[in-house]
Amino acid sequence: GGTIGVLGGGQLGRMLALAGRAMGYRFVTLDPTPDAPCGQVADQQIVAAYHDAAAARQLAEQADVITYEFENVDAEVTSLLMAESYVPQGSRLLYTTQHRLREKRAIEAAGVKVAPYAEIASEAELREAVQRFGTPCVLKTATGGYDGKGQWVIRSLDEVAEAYETLSRAKTELVLEQFIHFAKEISVIAARSPRGEVKAFPAAENVHVNNILHLSIVPARASSEVLQEAERMALRIAEALDVIGLIAVEMFLTADGELYVNELAPRPHNSGHYTMEACRTSQFEQHVRAICNLPLSDPGLLTPVVMVNVLGEHVEPLLDWIVKAESEQAVPGVTAKVHLYGKQEAKTGRKMGHVNLLTDSVESANRWIELSNIWKSTK
Ligand code: ATP
Ligand code: MG
Ligand code: MG
Repeated sequence: GGTIGVLGGGQLGRMLALAGRAMGYRFVTLDPTPDAPCGQVADQQIVAAYHDAAAARQLAEQADVITYEFENVDAEVTSLLMAESYVPQGSRLLYTTQHRLREKRAIEAAGVKVAPYAEIASEAELREAVQRFGTPCVLKTATGGYDGKGQWVIRSLDEVAEAYETLSRAKTELVLEQFIHFAKEISVIAARSPRGEVKAFPAAENVHVNNILHLSIVPARASSEVLQEAERMALRIAEALDVIGLIAVEMFLTADGELYVNELAPRPHNSGHYTMEACRTSQFEQHVRAICNLPLSDPGLLTPVVMVNVLGEHVEPLLDWIVKAESEQAVPGVTAKVHLYGKQEAKTGRKMGHVNLLTDSVESANRWIELSNIWKSTK
């Protein structure tokens, strides 16, 4: 028993609370939006800004253990929470993963490869680095980016001035990365507990549309050697960074089987939603176990699965299609598990839910997606 405090009230917190309540824990969440996805299923929501010190103190008073569902947690709030309560994930992992340069150095120190990169402090440095790496290459802000925001794919030297000027407005360091001509993007989510136990979920093959995750396919379609290596890399990172809880590791896989880590997320990850029905243990249960110092559970895959994200524009057609697909058994061999996050406004591009398609073949799941006619316009 006990109460788990969650900084952030979005869908990751919601699914964490749903898993943790089944295990007997109580939940308190802090989020500025009333009736947030996590607030709806938690025992209590404190409605306040994330950096509100009084609200953070209130969260700390009520919770035996505190976790977060996003990585841009304010350093002052973190130290306040650590002083007033128990934050097993600590502040160091946040400090590392909040900043692309620190993160890359930590990954390299763990003995894992990242795309060649350079710290950029001036337009002249950028020009020099673009010449060295060749085009295309990718300029990124060191902090604050998500869904491809804060990035510029530089396709020729002519773009250097504009790219530098645009991204330096973010007032953070910049990093240039060599472009990896990947065959696939994959991710591995690893868990580590305070006792030092580590376990990795099966690698997911991820397809993005407009820089937002569209599909996760598991098992990822790559050789077992590559998949084992990807899982080993994630475990090595979890150990080297002293992770408590989950670490999601995004990677590029090239045609000749090379793996490069792209970035990390120290929390449950969208590409791990497939675990909810397809694995013996979900990423959310595993995270609760890790932060509560329980033994980690078996992450093994029960069935092949394709997860498809449901954005604002997909919700209405999905609800119609689900009824039709199920009553007419339109796609045999596919069982669709629909998850909706309880968000009121179905804005275009907003993550509203996901569907886990449990299946005996990826082809059947793809047929389900195609027949639904829902995701056509996003391709
Ligand atoms: P997220 O929403 O996953 O946090 P983000 O904004 O932090 O995204 P990245 O994951 O760094 O951004 O990059 C977004 C996407 O851009 C990647 O998934 C990949 O498809 C592409 N990309 C990023 N860096 C590179 C690179 N060095 N080479 C090739 N493609 C890249
Ligand atoms: Mg990111
Ligand atoms: Mg990413």
